[in-house]
Amino acid sequence: MTRIVIAGAGIAGVPAAYRLKEALGAAGKVIVVSDKDYFHFVPSNPWVAMGWRDEHDIAFPIGSYLAERGIEFVASGLKALDTHRKQVELANGQEVAYDYLLLATGVLPAGGHVPGLAEHTHGVTHLEQAKKTYAAYREFVRQPGPIVVGATQRASVLGAMYEYALLVDADLRRRGIRERVPITVVTPEPYPGHLGLGLETETRRLLENVLAQSDIRVICNAETLRITENHVEIAQHGPPELKRAASNLPYKYCVYWPPFEGVAALRRTPGLTDANGRVKVDSYMRSPDYPEIFAAGACIAHDALAQTPVPVGVPDSVYAIQQETDAAVANLIAAARGAPLQAAAFQHAVWLNDLGSNGAAYLAEPQVPLRNILWLRQGRWVHQAKIEFEHYFLNKIRLKPPHGAASTHRIARLMDTVVTGSGSGPVSSGRSLEVPLSIDAYHCLRALATLAGSEPQALAGRLMEAALADAKSYLSEADLEKLERNSRRLLLDELPEAQPGVEFEAGAS
Ligand SMILES: Cc1cc2nc3c(=O)[nH]c(=O)nc-3n(C[C@H](O)[C@H](O)[C@H](O)COP(=O)(O)OP(=O)(O)OC[C@H]3O[C@@H](n4cnc5c(N)ncnc54)[C@H](O)[C@@H]3O)c2cc1C
Repeated sequence: MTRIVIAGAGIAGVPAAYRLKEALGAAGKVIVVSDKDYFHFVPSNPWVAMGWRDEHDIAFPIGSYLAERGIEFVASGLKALDTHRKQVELANGQEVAYDYLLLATGVLPAGGHVPGLAEHTHGVTHLEQAKKTYAAYREFVRQPGPIVVGATQRASVLGAMYEYALLVDADLRRRGIRERVPITVVTPEPYPGHLGLGLETETRRLLENVLAQSDIRVICNAETLRITENHVEIAQHGPPELKRAASNLPYKYCVYWPPFEGVAALRRTPGLTDANGRVKVDSYMRSPDYPEIFAAGACIAHDALAQTPVPVGVPDSVYAIQQETDAAVANLIAAARGAPLQAAAFQHAVWLNDLGSNGAAYLAEPQVPLRNILWLRQGRWVHQAKIEFEHYFLNKIRLKPPHGAASTHRIARLMDTVVTGSGSGPVSSGRSLEVPLSIDAYHCLRALATLAGSEPQALAGRLMEAALADAKSYLSEADLEKLERNSRRLLLDELPEAQPGVEFEAGAS
């Protein structure tokens, strides 16, 4: 049996584990190790930092979902790799042997190179940070002042920085205090929308327009020198006459994008990573020095794509990461079977940028190496599409295994019939009850009904019956007894008034 260890239970790690286990079945032992016991959807962190999402909306314990598929999970981070003995050492002291190792440990903020960055600024890289940022923002809006949203030299994922600045703008407008808050974006990019990809024209035009309409000032080619308790010190590069023109930006609230680096455990293995601790891979997503080690996701090293006066990092996207993950999984399986490895991932970048209530989407192809922007659209639908993408990804992680044991839950059984198309059934002849639905639930019900070839009302009735049956299984025995009594009482209330001989007392009728 091939033993595969996956380090990291995030956007790359969990789908990789599902796919590997599904492909290998009993021939593969898949073990996921992670420093956290939960999965978390990183792209929604800016929403958490605005209070538009609760942590429970985007994070949940992952162990049971992995176990359902026969995947072992150890909630302890990677501490060291022993590539000679082919085993990983975990923070809890456990040693786990592997035949193949898939690294999907994401990135950490590297704050040390700019004095004051870690102490004085807020961030959204990780969920815990985003929660603290929201707490600070709530304090800030009581006594507002200038805001600086910035990115240091070598920072990446700058789409999310613009997104955050525009979310803040939208939120302050809703609170009616926008005019009291000058917002400045500080970026190492030569122009807004460069994003480390150099997507001249379309993204530039779009972002410049949106930022101008939102009255957000942007300082480009900016090197962040130092951050104090109330000032950001920057030097602007670019044309010789501007070279290192220094300025001080006062702030009351400051959120910054640092450059990213790989997790410490990987750096200690000679030749595995670049100088920033990110894993070097070949076109098969495999380490050139360690053929049994593959990698996917943000932990991978990418060379800078464009020369800029101030260095800008290369971004990641969920879309590109999914392709890397597919390639890493396919090649790992091929290697385990002694088959030839397959061609490299062809990387696209699809990015949905939430701009508050509006949004912008683009498709760049290929993302790495140099790319063309193929398609760019703007509109309220992107905001909605981003929400849908979050739901889609979270549902994908929580999906029941495809060939699992028959479910004891009636909703799960009903959904099986829905997806196989046999879910229509007769329109319920029972009583009708008016139930107000949220917009999301309303659309979801209608879409499900179309999938099932059923009337929405009929499907709603069947789902409600199944939900009620499942809900009962969560009651205590005493509450179940009370529930039965209540429902009999309701039944009696509905009987015609003059029903001789019908009495109801203490559970009997
Ligand atoms: C703030 C932000 C917003 C973003 N927004 C978008 C967006 O809107 N759209 C988009 O397409 N992309 C976005 N991205 C880029 C990218 O999609 C995400 O960074 C994505 O989460 C990367 O996936 P990953 O699996 O590599 O890392 P992660 O999802 O971060 O997963 C890494 C996993 O490794 C675990 N781990 C960490 N250290 C260890 C260790 N020592 N041992 C074992 N496990 C460890 C972590 O707990 C986690 O489970 C955003 C990135 C950031 C930072």
